[in-house]
Amino acid sequence: MLPQSPCPNQLLNKTENEIEVWIKRLDLVHPEVSGNKFFKLKYNLEEAVKSGYDTILTFGGAYSNHIYATAKAAEASGLKSIGIIRGEELSELNPTLKSAKESGMRLEFISRSDYRRKAEPEFIKLLDEKFGEFFLIPEGGTNSLAILGTGEILTPEDFEFTHIACSIGTGGTFAGLSHSIKPHQKLMGISSLKGDFIHEEVKVLLNSTRKKYSSQYEILDDYHFGGYAKHTPELIAFINDFHEKYKVPLDIIYTGKTAFAILDHVKKGNFKAGSKILMIHTGGLQGNLGFTEKTGISLPL
Ligand SMILES: *Cc1c(COP(=O)(O)O)cnc(C)c1O
Repeated sequence: MLPQSPCPNQLLNKTENEIEVWIKRLDLVHPEVSGNKFFKLKYNLEEAVKSGYDTILTFGGAYSNHIYATAKAAEASGLKSIGIIRGEELSELNPTLKSAKESGMRLEFISRSDYRRKAEPEFIKLLDEKFGEFFLIPEGGTNSLAILGTGEILTPEDFEFTHIACSIGTGGTFAGLSHSIKPHQKLMGISSLKGDFIHEEVKVLLNSTRKKYSSQYEILDDYHFGGYAKHTPELIAFINDFHEKYKVPLDIIYTGKTAFAILDHVKKGNFKAGSKILMIHTGGLQGNLGFTEKTGISLPL
């Protein structure tokens, strides 16, 4: 079991018409297994250990928070880990992969075309033959055990809020939150990916957990800033201003876009007077290091 630190709620902003924006600091939950990944991995690791596996295998891109968190969580749980990484191995590992490797993760680079087969049973069988038995966690870490874990993100003090907001990648965090919100609360998900396919994907995910998609949920798909892992000067400036003003670091892939969306909605008058909004800080800060190394653009850590 990974030790869990408190995730305090911090007030960011209160407007004249009594709209409050707060942030729940999941980025502080564990020094290495940060943010929503802590909750997504928790029951997966427990299950792996309980079922007698000694190795976790998962998939991700070269800057993936999920790869990083899986490497750290496996190490802390005394499990071996294998990361199947999309794309070619570069001569020097980026900070994400370097850290994962230092935590004992075996990195296996595969072509983008092979990577697309990551969920096919025949492909998994090939991995089985190559690596021996392993406990498989899908890309992004979303499965039913992950959703069980993200269902524990909200705690009793969070039920006084009118809105809960989180970033969406695969939707596993959104699905877990949807299980735990109260009838008076509205859940807002901000997609980091371009396109409206995310509405359908989340619907499928909620159906699989016997939760209906309803007006209690809303997904914003117009704050992706060009698409997954894309950014604009406006987003960079926002993240740096936010850090200066509130002393809260945000990441460039997810939480920066989510905080921007929420404050933009406040500015545009889209929340009723008296709304209390709780944004979930899903972590992801390890990625800022690699971003800065790649682009030369500095971001808070
Ligand atoms: C992985 C990740 C997400 C996306 O979570 P899903 O459960 O895949 O939707 C959001 N924020 C951060 C910081 C992440 O690392």
